[in-house]
Amino acid sequence: MPTLDIKQNILQENAKAAESLRKQFATNKTLVLNFISSPGSGKTSLLEATIARLKDKYRLAAIDGDIATERDADRLRALGISAEQISTGGACHLDARQISTALKKGNFGKLDILFIENVGNLICPTSYDLGEDGKIVLLSVTEGDDKPFKYPGIFSKADTAVITKIDLLPHVRFDESAVNEQITTLRPNGTIHRLSVTTGEGVEGWIKFITQRFQNKQTRA
Ligand code: MG
Ligand code: ZN
Repeated sequence: MPTLDIKQNILQENAKAAESLRKQFATNKTLVLNFISSPGSGKTSLLEATIARLKDKYRLAAIDGDIATERDADRLRALGISAEQISTGGACHLDARQISTALKKGNFGKLDILFIENVGNLICPTSYDLGEDGKIVLLSVTEGDDKPFKYPGIFSKADTAVITKIDLLPHVRFDESAVNEQITTLRPNGTIHRLSVTTGEGVEGWIKFITQRFQNKQTRA
């Protein structure tokens, strides 16, 4: 069997598993967000800031993907929420079956919001539907302002882009308007946030955005 067909089969199998997850999330009205970025863009830090601000109001849980270690899940558990770590053993993405296994293992009960932190990678996770409501792509200002056009797949699939570490802007070369232009070209109706979890700039707007998405999910029966 040619490699391309095998990849097609894997993605078809994944799509089936993702569809059943999507039904389950719809029944429970759980908002599910899939966070994707390069390693070190600040996914876990953004989740920490988000969870700290929402945990008293909503039932939250997280699933973290990494090729090794439980570190990210441990950081989120430290905030008092349930988190399951998926160790992919080298694989550079999460798939829908791993999510359903983690859900069974985590036994989270009925959730308002499930955060999925994908493996740090801008390419592979793009192709794998996890039954989520939306993909959130992060780009830190230290990564360079050419990334959206270099990784058009994820920037066109993600309905939301978050520019992180904006407190470092004075120290790096990062043309933010060029980045916004690239992102808007790839995803004309998407949302762009800019924030720093270190200074807190932009975090309030981000939290409002998540809250609004949660409300939308509740009214979309
Ligand atoms: Mg992380
Ligand atoms: Zn992969």
